Amino acid sequence: MNDISRERSSELFEKAQRFFPGGVNSPVRAFKSVYGTPLFIEKGDGCFLWDADGNKFIDFCCSWGPLILGHNHPSVRENVIDAVEKGMSFGAPTALENELAELILTHNRKVEKIRFVSSGTEAVMSAIRLARGYTKRDKILKFEGCYHGHVDSMLVKAGSGLVTFGETSSAGVPKSFADETIVIPLNDRGAVEQAFKQFPDQIAAIIIEGVPANNGLLIQNKEYIQFLRELSTANRSLLIFDEVITGFRLGFEGAAGYYDIQPDITTYGKIIGGGMPVGAYGASAEIMSNISPEGAVYQAGTLSGNPVAMAAGIGQLSELLRPGFYKELNEKTAAFVASVQQYAADKEYQLTVFSIGSLFWFAFTDRNIQKAEDIDPLSMDKFKIFHRELLNRGIYLGPSGYEVGFISSAHTVDTLENAKRAIFESLDVVYS
Ligand code: PMP
Repeated sequence: MNDISRERSSELFEKAQRFFPGGVNSPVRAFKSVYGTPLFIEKGDGCFLWDADGNKFIDFCCSWGPLILGHNHPSVRENVIDAVEKGMSFGAPTALENELAELILTHNRKVEKIRFVSSGTEAVMSAIRLARGYTKRDKILKFEGCYHGHVDSMLVKAGSGLVTFGETSSAGVPKSFADETIVIPLNDRGAVEQAFKQFPDQIAAIIIEGVPANNGLLIQNKEYIQFLRELSTANRSLLIFDEVITGFRLGFEGAAGYYDIQPDITTYGKIIGGGMPVGAYGASAEIMSNISPEGAVYQAGTLSGNPVAMAAGIGQLSELLRPGFYKELNEKTAAFVASVQQYAADKEYQLTVFSIGSLFWFAFTDRNIQKAEDIDPLSMDKFKIFHRELLNRGIYLGPSGYEVGFISSAHTVDTLENAKRAIFESLDVVYS
């Protein structure tokens, strides 16, 4: 099949390279690990995207997760327009912040108080500072394969060995910062026990993604998450759930609700802002009382609680509270995933579609994968072909085989049928 036209996108990309490092404002957008230059998007509506060359796609990236209602949902758009007409930012409290907080706190039992920030990274950075301030300890235990934004101390990868000090995975992160981060593999109880033994009374918190979804979809067993909960409590460390992806995605209470586990601190982003730049962190009233101006842990933001962003969040979260919203979305996803899996099985293709809630990940393997190290980097060659074939058939997936796909309520059953056909044909090419 012929490649889609990218004339206009290529021109725009050329120009963008004069302005931005790598031509983009966030690295994964640069299409480095797939074919071609990035598509410049002109418009989104429902579950569809149009690029600058007029190509139309079914969108499974959904802005990397925020758009659980699809693009341009009237409830979000109308709220935003109303808010914009009254002014964009005041740097003073507004009733909209109360309204969004009330919506969250009355329907999500996992947090008692919340603080709004402007991104997921900011939420995680603040949650870590809070954990350190609260416990008066410095070290943070994180898992290889979990991404928590570009917070200095989180840009670390595992060294060799079961329990390691982090090694920086980005230039510009001082080694002394990485030394405060301990990195261990997922799904390995011994490694967690060993870490607490090796660093007694030093670990402020364990941080884990609600469901690790940034390095493939590494679904952990509930018992393991429960074990992390128990071990952190026994060691007077906090458990931080980074729910930037899973919050309001696996249900209104996110992964914490899904697993029925109470984290000490929770971070949110993406969905909470309806497509506007919003993040948040929340915890018990007692833990949150440590945040300034009530407590000694400083955290602030000129645009925090921005009225336009709050209005978008209110519009989006109100829709999620409609009875049956998650059931319908999750069932639709499960049926879609099952068909693709069945097709691959019938054809004896080595493909496993990992999925939870309305998240999915195509892995070119027949093994169960629960750890970053179990992903074969060579399988990404197949993804590269798959991605190209999908684009040519009008399907937009994030441009990396390590990224998950998202289904929104705007993806109709008919559209998913069309998407399946394109996926089947693309798989046939990958395995031809
Ligand atoms: N935590 C998780 C789990 C994420 O998936 C992301 C972003 N993909 C972040 C934190 C960072 O959020 P942001 O990009 O809004 O800074």
